[in-house]
Amino acid sequence: MEDGVQISAIGVRDLNIQHFLNYLNMGYAADMNYLFRRDSIMKRESPYLIAGWAKSIITFNILYKFEMKKVQSPYARFAMYSVFKDYHLVIKDYIENYLTEYGLFLNNKRIYVDTGPLMEREIGRLGGLGWIGKNSMLINKKLGSYTFLGEALVDVKLDGSFQITPDMCGNCDLCIRSCPVNAIDRDRKVDSNKCISYHTIESRKTIPLEIGTKMENMVFGCDICNDVCPWNRSRKGPTIFANRREQIENLKVEDLVYMDNENFVTKFGSTPIRRAKVEGLRRNAVMAHFNIYNDDKFLEEVSKDFRDLGGQQAAEILRKIKL
Ligand code: SF4
Ligand code: SF4
Repeated sequence: MEDGVQISAIGVRDLNIQHFLNYLNMGYAADMNYLFRRDSIMKRESPYLIAGWAKSIITFNILYKFEMKKVQSPYARFAMYSVFKDYHLVIKDYIENYLTEYGLFLNNKRIYVDTGPLMEREIGRLGGLGWIGKNSMLINKKLGSYTFLGEALVDVKLDGSFQITPDMCGNCDLCIRSCPVNAIDRDRKVDSNKCISYHTIESRKTIPLEIGTKMENMVFGCDICNDVCPWNRSRKGPTIFANRREQIENLKVEDLVYMDNENFVTKFGSTPIRRAKVEGLRRNAVMAHFNIYNDDKFLEEVSKDFRDLGGQQAAEILRKIKL
């Protein structure tokens, strides 16, 4: 097994999903309505509903941390995970090859990378891969929490005699205190209505100004609650994510505002950033531009030049600052 990869397996079993239900009931899922689907909730609780033939769930915990310098304005900051080739593809290939090489299935397997109705952090925790920290991430003592999780449901019974790692957050609450928008509650849940990652990646609406003005020059995601965690301090590769797209770390916010779709696809099409689409990235860049320059004239131009989310964000900022 490569450095920076840890693997565990548990037998398929019912899981305690109370924490997830609390998260939904608190309204923390914001507009992610798919999380409320009854069939998907039932699958989270009983993974055998996903695949009746499955006997075990194998979790792959894969480090992606590297020494990323803090990108300063007027350059745009992207979350660390996003500057690599799309992890969905890289990890799926890795798991496929691993299962085949070690003969970990007979006839059936199903691989998930951040896409299926699986309680992936809880399954990783039960497999001894770490504890779920106050920032809601799975933290591994050796790898920290700058990791991707991928799972394979397989039709063989694997011995999952792993020791569960106790909670090692202790009295620390750095992540809670460092979150610029107070999105982390005291019960290890993140309120997506406030979270910068949600607003810059998942949301298809304009960013509320009370959130957007805390983004500084961040234009895709937010690493703060990972960055401050002491368990991430000295961790970094080697990793299977060797080839990062370094040109993404040298882009000016202003250039992102005026980027066309063709350029967007060329630059970001093979990375997770494509999820935001060109108009989502424009929206984020407009917000970051305002944070850096506070330039009304620029916003007026953008609101006239674009009818999409980017233009709407510019108009929204202008409307609010004129109140
Ligand atoms: S990703 Fe950023 S905004 Fe979201 S909870 Fe963590 S620190 Fe807060
Ligand atoms: S910053 Fe502290 S409280 Fe937050 S996850 Fe890390 S160790 Fe736990």
